[in-house]
Amino acid sequence: MKCPNCNNENVNIQVINEQKLVTRHHGIIWWLFIGWWWIFVKWIFFTVPALLAAIFIGKRKKIVNVQKKIYVCQSCGRTWE
Ligand SMILES: [Zn+2]
Repeated sequence: MKCPNCNNENVNIQVINEQKLVTRHHGIIWWLFIGWWWIFVKWIFFTVPALLAAIFIGKRKKIVNVQKKIYVCQSCGRTWE
């Protein structure tokens, strides 16, 4: 592996674990028009069965682990994936 910046071959490879939360964000308009009743409907149809499922089956993991390789050039300090 060569550095794309200075062509130095003295490059370190670092493996890092990145944690991504799989949640979506909605805008204020969404909350005003859809959010208040959608949450209510969702709560009845999803949360209640989900809670029951969580009690009987166990908690589902919501954090996804993504393994990334990061290359670090020992000469110029450039990092890339
Ligand atoms: Zn470099």
